[in-house]
Amino acid sequence: MTAMAGVTFEHVSKKYAGNDVYSVNDLNLDIRDKEFLVLVGPSGCGKSTALRMIAGLEEISSGVLRIGERVVNNVPPKDRDIAMVFQSYALYPHMSVFDNMAFGLRMRKAVPAGTPPGMSREAAIKQRVEEVADSIGLRQFLTRKPRQLSGGQRQRVALGRAIVRNPQVFLMDEPLSNLDAKLRVQTRATISRLHRDLQTTMIYVTHDQVEAMTMGDRIAVMRDGILQQLDTPQNLYDHPTNMFVAGFIGSPAMNFFTAKLEQDNQELYIAGEGFRVKVPAQYRQALASSAGKEITFGLRPEDVADVRMEQNVDESSVVPVTVDVVEPMGSEIYLYLLTSGNQQFVARVDPLTQTAPGQQMQVTFDMKKMHAFDPTTQQTLL
Ligand code: ADP
Repeated sequence: MTAMAGVTFEHVSKKYAGNDVYSVNDLNLDIRDKEFLVLVGPSGCGKSTALRMIAGLEEISSGVLRIGERVVNNVPPKDRDIAMVFQSYALYPHMSVFDNMAFGLRMRKAVPAGTPPGMSREAAIKQRVEEVADSIGLRQFLTRKPRQLSGGQRQRVALGRAIVRNPQVFLMDEPLSNLDAKLRVQTRATISRLHRDLQTTMIYVTHDQVEAMTMGDRIAVMRDGILQQLDTPQNLYDHPTNMFVAGFIGSPAMNFFTAKLEQDNQELYIAGEGFRVKVPAQYRQALASSAGKEITFGLRPEDVADVRMEQNVDESSVVPVTVDVVEPMGSEIYLYLLTSGNQQFVARVDPLTQTAPGQQMQVTFDMKKMHAFDPTTQQTLL
């Protein structure tokens, strides 16, 4: 049996020598045993730095980092029982696939877990490498050199090399970004399956929110070295904590409208550039303190529909628009629309929708799905 472990950041910060800003700023993050945790955010947000601190490849400026119960701040990388998979694969070009996969075991002078008594170390390593090669479809490539493999096969060797070691924690830094789109989708599924089979903690860094959403048990969204939100994919999508997370997760991104929250008798309305829509009764209370103020109104593209395709349209949610651009995607159509106040936004509509650039049409906002943000702090109001 492999020992397993979570990873805990307690007020961990990192400032590189010569920089005046923190690359990771007071990070508190509790990654659970066996969890698939994705660190996501735009380039430069500090996600690789956070991962490299777990690996021991970067020193920690302040705070405490634990793997399992053990504080690892000063533990050298080779003693951390982690395996890291890099974007560049980092394979030894002169070694065969077999030798690349066996390298970590040979280096450590350890006998693979579960070796029967009496079996030589080299025989045990051979058995382990072959078993892993079988499980990820590399058996017939064991004698090849990395240059004789495709990019996808090389990436599998890099994964295999990590798996043979049975580490407590897998760390992956953008492992799919050198693969073409189709292979990326396939390898994404391979890694998810591996996680399920190995039942080991995996921490995965990516800038791609689709990878994050599809692979993560939970996702940590970072920006400028600061953790924005840690949550399940669905909660991030449905309940983003601020405008940054709301705009980062989801494609096409959430629409943001500058608007005023108007009180009219008992009702609240969102009055934007060229539209006025009613706030559903269940949100009135939560927004009451913002009545009369500016807000940023948010609505995802799939929550906009062509009125002609809808039944029981609520008049208080209808917005007249002009079609600017039509992008047919096959399974759906993206419409770039303009309100009469020239506010541009995107709708993801039924592929049977008939329209063309320049046409006037009416859309309806699904106000039960509305979001609202404080335009100054950018924090979620609703
Ligand atoms: P990400 O992985 O999210 O793209 P990184 O963790 O690589 O971000 O980098 C975070 C910040 O730290 C960036 O501003 C980057 O320029 C800086 N940084 C990364 N590595 C170094 C380094 N070795 N020396 C100085 N600054 C660095």
